[in-house]
Amino acid sequence: MNAEFNSNIRILTAPNMPTLFKSLAELLEKIENTRKRLEITALTAEFLKNLAPEEVEPAVSMILGRPFPKWNPKTLDVSWTTLTAILQTVTGAGWNVFGEAFRGTGDIGSATKSVFEQAKLKKQAQLLEKELTVTEVRRILEAIAEITGSGSREKKERLITTLLSQASPVEAKYLVKIFTGEMRTGLHEGLMEQAVAKAFEVPLATVQKASMAMGDIGEVAAMAKTGGKDALANVGFKLFRPVKLMLAQTAADVAEALEEHGGETAFEYKYDGARVQIHKQGSEVRVFSRRLTDVTRSLPETVEVVKANVKTANAILEGEVIAVDAAGSPVPFQHLMRRFKRVHEVTGMAEKIPVRLFLFDVLYLDGKSSLIAVPYLQRRQVLAENAGDIPLTTQIVTSDRDEAERFLKRAIDAGHEGLMAKKLDSPYTPGTRGKSWLKIKPVLEPLDLVIVAAEYGYGRRHSWLSDYYLAARDAETGEFQTVGKTFKGLTDVEIVEMTKRLKAFAVSEEGNRVIVLPKIVVEVAYNEIQKSPKYRSRMALRFARITRIRDDKDAEDADTLERVRMIYERQFAKKGRYKAE
Ligand code: AMP
Repeated sequence: MNAEFNSNIRILTAPNMPTLFKSLAELLEKIENTRKRLEITALTAEFLKNLAPEEVEPAVSMILGRPFPKWNPKTLDVSWTTLTAILQTVTGAGWNVFGEAFRGTGDIGSATKSVFEQAKLKKQAQLLEKELTVTEVRRILEAIAEITGSGSREKKERLITTLLSQASPVEAKYLVKIFTGEMRTGLHEGLMEQAVAKAFEVPLATVQKASMAMGDIGEVAAMAKTGGKDALANVGFKLFRPVKLMLAQTAADVAEALEEHGGETAFEYKYDGARVQIHKQGSEVRVFSRRLTDVTRSLPETVEVVKANVKTANAILEGEVIAVDAAGSPVPFQHLMRRFKRVHEVTGMAEKIPVRLFLFDVLYLDGKSSLIAVPYLQRRQVLAENAGDIPLTTQIVTSDRDEAERFLKRAIDAGHEGLMAKKLDSPYTPGTRGKSWLKIKPVLEPLDLVIVAAEYGYGRRHSWLSDYYLAARDAETGEFQTVGKTFKGLTDVEIVEMTKRLKAFAVSEEGNRVIVLPKIVVEVAYNEIQKSPKYRSRMALRFARITRIRDDKDAEDADTLERVRMIYERQFAKKGRYKAE
């Protein structure tokens, strides 16, 4: 650890002095410059320890790149276009200067810092550095989030301009990262839990359990600061606070799933829809998406069906909603996603696509504090007893491989994606992607990739961004690495809309190519993964085509490089070769 840095933190966070945002920014810079997890948690713990109680949650949220706690429905709702315009006003630098800085660093935060440094040298524009505190920054972020209605864009712009013009280069770097949700320092939530445990001397397992139940590590940290271990020991689920989702790994086929689950398992249809977590308290029902955002307003019929069928006063249920046409047959997922788009994108989308709910889990019911430790089969039983007429996912429990194969075929023939295998005695483990749930999709499974750049097309498509660079996430660094490129799969209407969306995320332009913030996730089918020197990942998808736009997923939910590599290697295993080389 760097002694100079530590002493810096101490000076800036002396007792009774409000913590400066600058020391938070410096901590982040230090974290970004190390890959050593132990050092990251030690530095963060040291910083947290010195905070005043009211500073803990805002600081933890901001270190993780969030303006507010995760479950909080407040959003800043500031577009990248607005932000770049403000950056230009504040620094006096043109778009090309920013683009140049971005090309040098590949990171919008670092590009911002560099442009601010240049502006400072030249004593340009409106930089009036003033000492910002953590609490003050949070207050301003809240004020920005609260602005709505007519003229809100200008009002937000004014506040952000004032904030950024007070910022030093390093502060501006991290403010921009918070505004855009592009923190990516390598400090993820798991490491933050370790830092909190260390800072406030609470066992890690206690912190993890509390964080899972409260849905936010920032608030847990604040509780740990004031009440220590005892305060965390008793936190339970809170209704209307979404619980982190249990996720699935992939199995190659039903045989692998059976083996992994000890010879017998439950197979369920894997529906091609969107995950929902439903909370009910008395007559109020709220629905949360896979991103844990509140989508209640988008799904009134889901709310109604739960109200009409679930008789217990309190419940937390999980299921999948699928879109259906007037005759009740499933319709493409894309239609459903349109209902989930963020509020500012919804305008003009009055059209209603009916949805159907299939339930598959229960986490909480009246009287019982939590059902997550109860084995899957029992939870399923409890769910069946409390779901009324709401259908559960179609399921079989079997140890017979042929029966499982037939069930998979039935699922595919009925238009579903494949199967989920669920280990019979497994608890519900929030926030983990373990082997207790395995998804089985036939053929070469599609990948969820992030668009990181796009090129204008030719001929008819010359003014549209129609050729997309597709990237997978490096789970270690949070970076995105290109694994393919495609101009196939979207309709003209979708390309026009995609062009608009990508332009709003443009960071720099290189000839025909526009580099964009990694925001939009698409599902991509392909015929093969090849070894290729073209990209840094050294892999390239062959015949890639977009099969759908995954507006329900964040870039963080995209497939990892490791997964792409695994599929790449599996291809060779199937062809009877041992090595991927
Ligand atoms: P994936 O999004 O490919 O990681 O697959 C996991 C997702 O499948 C879950 O998050 C659910 O949205 C969805 N899903 C569909 N059917 C089921 C089911 N029967 N059980 C659990 N998840 C399901």
